[in-house]
Amino acid sequence: MSEISEPAGPRFVFAVDLGGTHLRVGLLDDSGKIHHQIKRQTPKEDSPDAVVNALVTVADEWRRAGYGPIVASAVMVPGAVNADQSVVLQAPNLPSLINLPFKRLLQERLGWPAVLENDANAAAIGEMWRGAARGCRDVVSVTLGTGVGGGVVLDGKLWRGAHGSAGEIGHTTVDPFGGLKCKCGNTGCLELFASATAIARMARESLAQFPGTTLSAENLTAEKVYEAGRNGDELALAVFKRAGTYLGVGLANIMSLIDPEMIVISGGVVNGWDLFQAEMYREVSERAFRATAQQVKIARAECGDNAGLLGAARLAFDQMG
Ligand SMILES: [Zn+2]
Repeated sequence: MSEISEPAGPRFVFAVDLGGTHLRVGLLDDSGKIHHQIKRQTPKEDSPDAVVNALVTVADEWRRAGYGPIVASAVMVPGAVNADQSVVLQAPNLPSLINLPFKRLLQERLGWPAVLENDANAAAIGEMWRGAARGCRDVVSVTLGTGVGGGVVLDGKLWRGAHGSAGEIGHTTVDPFGGLKCKCGNTGCLELFASATAIARMARESLAQFPGTTLSAENLTAEKVYEAGRNGDELALAVFKRAGTYLGVGLANIMSLIDPEMIVISGGVVNGWDLFQAEMYREVSERAFRATAQQVKIARAECGDNAGLLGAARLAFDQMG
């Protein structure tokens, strides 16, 4: 008697990190191992066809190479996704994707079931699956990059909110009366103080107050401010302390609202951890309930750039069953 059974072996997800500048694609198995990975420029012309064509090119290369079996694609976008995870609602860096049936387009062109997710949400799942928050059930992730993103996981599940925009921690108010305008329409958002963009802006604004600084207005980036800070530059140190102060205010608000087991901090600005953490912890301890502040762990992310790819793949495997 013979029995036909599914061949044993790993299954793979075609996971995509679709950024405004770069797109990265990884082939991940169900243990979270990344088998193949490529990084390319996001097509310059802002067109969904160009983006999908670029993905189809990679998929065809990998099919020809015999990689697989691939069971799904998982695409994370730098923006908000609607409640049934099929349409991009907001994407300041890829505006042509807005209001398209993007999930259907991906499924038709790539040939696999597709999962669509916000990048910060995917990163939260990635850190919980294979990163700093392994084993935790209630996690908030905060990404300090060009902007400030956030993802909320409650009882092991992503909390997307009633309209798909939960976790927008970067646009919670930490300075209501300072008058600084955010592109979201609010004033005093956390993103205006704790993002890489903010680090560079705050340094530029304070150049005149620190005549001894090694920084100059030309090509000022968060990385340069960080390097200067490591070398003891007073201006750079003041900027990171300011970022840490506002970040601490934001984290205390998160603790009072969610009381997570862990808050995971990721993104390029996290390199400056040693330069901002004292102010961050001080604000948290002054503002959150003492018992909460003492128990919530604040940790640096461990998956680096791969948190989103991991999280997107995990969400796809979960949906495939
Ligand atoms: Zn804002």
